[in-house]
Amino acid sequence: MSFLGTCESTGCDAPAKLQCPTCLKLGIQGSFFCSQECFKSNWKSHKIIHTLAKGEGNEGKKDSDYNPWPQYSYTGKLRPGQLSTKRQVPEKIGRPDYADHPLGYPLSEQAVKGSSQIKVLDDEEIEGMRVACKLGREVLDEAARVCDVGVTTDEIDRVVHEACIERDCYPSPLNYYEFPKSCCTSVNEVICHGIPDMRALNDGDLCNVDITVYHNGFHGDLNETFFVGNVSDKHKDLVKVTYECLSKAISLVKPGEKYREIGNVIQKHAQANGYSVVRSYCGHGIHRLFHTAPNVPHYAKNRAIGVMKAGHCFTIEPMISVGTWRDETWPDKWTAVTADGLWSAQFEQTLLVTDTGCEIMTRRRNETGLPHFTDKM
Ligand SMILES: [Zn+2]
Ligand SMILES: [Zn+2]
Repeated sequence: MSFLGTCESTGCDAPAKLQCPTCLKLGIQGSFFCSQECFKSNWKSHKIIHTLAKGEGNEGKKDSDYNPWPQYSYTGKLRPGQLSTKRQVPEKIGRPDYADHPLGYPLSEQAVKGSSQIKVLDDEEIEGMRVACKLGREVLDEAARVCDVGVTTDEIDRVVHEACIERDCYPSPLNYYEFPKSCCTSVNEVICHGIPDMRALNDGDLCNVDITVYHNGFHGDLNETFFVGNVSDKHKDLVKVTYECLSKAISLVKPGEKYREIGNVIQKHAQANGYSVVRSYCGHGIHRLFHTAPNVPHYAKNRAIGVMKAGHCFTIEPMISVGTWRDETWPDKWTAVTADGLWSAQFEQTLLVTDTGCEIMTRRRNETGLPHFTDKM
């Protein structure tokens, strides 16, 4: 009989005679005890190593071993996960032009690129936008239901993809300039355009889900930042202030207002709370085209062109950061992160300028109309 050393039980120096059968099965080295009694009395703490060996421990290790860009120096703690295979949209669902372009080019958008002319929608087009925006809101509400600790952003993407198809919508991000997924999921220091992947959300994460749906020829676009489990007070405040920035900006919207004023209101409120405004990504005109005139910067003293007119449709979508306003992009050419790795939050609505002010086309249709995070404040 080979020498097994002494019993693992603390304070017991008796020679070890038996090995834990589960450890044997799982190929865990060691785990020797002198007797059934010592084995049983240690069971509670001992069995944890079984869980680690087969469950989370293994997956966690696999996850952290995956690094597609070994040369890239990350700005923060977040790392990418692996991507699932491409999701398909049934042929019967109407598709935007870029859905079938080999490089995902939106040719209809590119045809009017550089023009600052803003389309005035007629009644029929406005109704088309109302329907697309309402469906987009329903899809975001579905995403909110699944966004939780332990859930992967790929699972959120799956739910979003299915929810779009159920509503006869094409998920607008899919293949737009070759974007690989059906929504954007931007976690923690990711500012926007995060790609859903196999990383599970952690307790305390912030997760923004950005939804755009294409229905009957029109796009509806909105996003919200969700709390994952128990979020720190510091990050709760960031999310609250970001939502307030959007609300204050929306209250400006009316015929005759200059698009460049929006950024002044947003930066004033962000700065008063010690936060910065991301400058690289802007709100945009939206209707039959996903992204078009006007360009709507969220920072102060911008030089945006145009004056609001009834029938204009556009988004406001401020990205507000704890630290620097500077961003950089991961080697996937999509994921925008803060340059200092501190966290960022965002909210977005699609708006219609009306004769008297504005209609929030993607508004939440519950009693309060408030975003999902307020349920957890
Ligand atoms: Zn969006
Ligand atoms: Zn947008």
